[in-house]
Amino acid sequence: MLSKPELFTRLAEGHAAGITVVTPNVRLAQELTAEFDAFQRSKGLPLWEAPDILFLDAFVERLWEEALVSGHGAKLPLLLSSAQEQHLWEQILEKSGLLAVPQAAAQCRDAWRKRHQWRIRGGPAGEDTAEDAAAFLAWSREYERRTRGEVDAARLPDVVLDFVRRKPALLVTYAFDIVPPQAKEFLARFELAECQPDAHEGKALRCSFASAKEEVEAAAKWARARLEGGARRIGVVVPDLRQRRREVARIFSRVMRPGYNLPGVEKAPLPFNISLGLPLDSYPLAGAALDLLELAFGALAFERASRLIRSPFLFDAEGERARRAALDVWLRRELDATVPLAKLVGATERSPQLRRCLEAVFESVQGVQAQTPAEWARGFSVVLDAAGFPGERVLDSEEYQTLGKWHEALAELSRLERVSKGMSSREALAVLRRLCADTLFQPESPDAPVQVLGVLESAGLRFDCLWVTGLTDEAWPLPARPNPFIPLALQKKAGMPEASAESSLDLDRRLTAEWTRAADEVVFSFPAKDEDRDVAPSALILGIAEGEVAIAEFPRYRDMLFNNKKMVEFEDAKGPAFAGREVRGGTRVLADQAACPFRAFAKWRLAADELDEPVDVPDARTRGILLHAFMKFLWQELKGSGALSKNLQPALTAAAAAAVKEVELEGRFAELERERLVRLGGEWLEIEALRPPFAVALAEEKRKIEVSGLVFDARIDRMDALPDGGHVLIDYKTGAQSSLKLWLGERPDEPQLPLYALSAKEDIAAVTFAQLKTGEMRFRGYSKDKGVLPRVEQPDNWKGLLAVWKKETEALGAGFAAGEARVDPKHGLATCRLCHLQTLCRVHEKPHLLKGEE
Ligand code: SF4
Repeated sequence: MLSKPELFTRLAEGHAAGITVVTPNVRLAQELTAEFDAFQRSKGLPLWEAPDILFLDAFVERLWEEALVSGHGAKLPLLLSSAQEQHLWEQILEKSGLLAVPQAAAQCRDAWRKRHQWRIRGGPAGEDTAEDAAAFLAWSREYERRTRGEVDAARLPDVVLDFVRRKPALLVTYAFDIVPPQAKEFLARFELAECQPDAHEGKALRCSFASAKEEVEAAAKWARARLEGGARRIGVVVPDLRQRRREVARIFSRVMRPGYNLPGVEKAPLPFNISLGLPLDSYPLAGAALDLLELAFGALAFERASRLIRSPFLFDAEGERARRAALDVWLRRELDATVPLAKLVGATERSPQLRRCLEAVFESVQGVQAQTPAEWARGFSVVLDAAGFPGERVLDSEEYQTLGKWHEALAELSRLERVSKGMSSREALAVLRRLCADTLFQPESPDAPVQVLGVLESAGLRFDCLWVTGLTDEAWPLPARPNPFIPLALQKKAGMPEASAESSLDLDRRLTAEWTRAADEVVFSFPAKDEDRDVAPSALILGIAEGEVAIAEFPRYRDMLFNNKKMVEFEDAKGPAFAGREVRGGTRVLADQAACPFRAFAKWRLAADELDEPVDVPDARTRGILLHAFMKFLWQELKGSGALSKNLQPALTAAAAAAVKEVELEGRFAELERERLVRLGGEWLEIEALRPPFAVALAEEKRKIEVSGLVFDARIDRMDALPDGGHVLIDYKTGAQSSLKLWLGERPDEPQLPLYALSAKEDIAAVTFAQLKTGEMRFRGYSKDKGVLPRVEQPDNWKGLLAVWKKETEALGAGFAAGEARVDPKHGLATCRLCHLQTLCRVHEKPHLLKGEE
């Protein structure tokens, strides 16, 4: 056993000493190299030979590469890449009837590797998993047959040494804990020495936090405090880092550098590094390339097409940035939820360069005559070139590295040539997408003092201080994770640590002990609650003394702004008065003014419109338009109560067909809507039949309405003439929300119908909602006299009611005309819940405004 100083002294002799160090993972190799460099620097050396320290798997592969260029190269079996292995397994499983073939293929690869690593031989032994295991053995035989003359990573350690001419004089294993039999046999063929990391005699304590989020937040603040206190190597372990990576990155970024993500702030490396990379396809550059190819060879969901046309990675994206953003808003109203390339080309006239770019893509696709993976890789490159990918903007470092990784993914697709038959464009794209999804990628950044790690990467590392989070009794020790394709008994017998709860406990107990030796200060923590549920600490940390960690408070960027004492208070509740007379938006403007003056100001004066989301099925708005059109056509045919005693079916059917045609619905949805309208209309006419005689005077009629000197467009759903000369104003409502409260009190929620009544030249005898909800159909409103409509109310004073409406609607009109823009949601949270303006009005900075009814 070599001590670390002895190891470094030997490594300092340089390459001539022939020493190679292997580690159980990449991170340990990097850390040991950094430590050795520090050791050399501490001696005042200006330069030295780089030590030969690498991950064991990389060492095995390097031996194969060395053999390839040696005299044995011709006899050496070719090494399959992991993508080639995966592809072969997928081909074998294609006929298995399994649903998730790529996932099953990945498990097969894992089982294949484990059988070799742990020297598991033999077949299933009458277990629950026997069926899976038997199937796996059959697939393995096929895999073996197909890979004859080749080798994969699982078998490479067993064969590579037969071709190696020159071995290191001494091979040192560093920080190994579990060594599977295959690795043992491989290592035994070298002159071998062992080295283990130094142990710290540190102080460990255990603490808890109210939630997992607070726990990570505290760890981030603690790390920043230690960093500012002079610590150079700080570790934070997050066991479920893969699932929580984004949240953890956000918290650490915010704590380490408040305001890091403000627009215009120069991108600078943050002082922490997260060990786990992200899938390549989650990087915008690779995502844009994949979306462009999917669009080029088929169609794209609108959301992704929208992102693509606004992406900086297409031709002249910078020059047409504003134009493309405006185009996106327009396309949202014009296109469907799925967009084929030809349709998008036709819709991009407003953005000439984009159109040119998409036309070039369209043409390039016609020229792609690919069949094999290599041909597809070339074809995809041609299409991307035609789109001007990756744009004319200078890429930043992260984008530049992503581009390199993207080219590697294309090359990997090309290399599938060796193991694949022909592919369709869909298959080739699916393979490329999966390659990108499986490639975890982390752009290189300068060495960071704070390391955020998963459990396995933390093993063997040494720090000045270390915090291990998330150690609840449910999360630690990790549950057993046996591979379903190897009989459980064989996995247990082989001693695989993840095969059973006992061996997993054993391994995690050792890891916990290892953490306590990893730094001078070690904190173990757990969240005491998971939402509302109490959570207990892991039994593995119960022996560690409870204590409290001092958590320094670091202000958020927002607090820093508020606290800088240079605040200028500015009451901003009023905009400039409305200068014109005609108001766009119709009488909805006054409904918004009633709900919240700021909402009306932002929507109708600043045009802060909500973006449309194209959908495949008719949405609530379309169904509303459809219903109004249906009623219009129906009453054009029926004309009044006189027709209600006849057979109504033909009129209902014709009106439904005309409405569906007017709204341009087609296919199955058109059929369903026609049926729905006929059903709804039939039910509603039964209510109409209960009324005294009437004739429909107008339907869907546009009028101009003047309020407080402003002119609004209005559309009256329907007005019926009564035999005595009175008129009934009707407003269709599809929900059950037609309460009369909507017309009453200050700032009435629905001022439209009162406005129509006040401005009508006709003699109004009743105003009413027609509540068109299946099972709850009824009129709901006010009439001047009894008996005008079934179940409507008579106010004590009809004229008084009209006077109140006049006062309230004029107050709303006057407020809007004066530029009134108070952030004042009428029903608090209930008003804001469905409003899209929350980030603009910043109502959440005034929580007292949000206490309203839900
Ligand atoms: S979110 Fe609420 S406060 Fe803000 S504009 Fe909308 S309704 Fe008004």
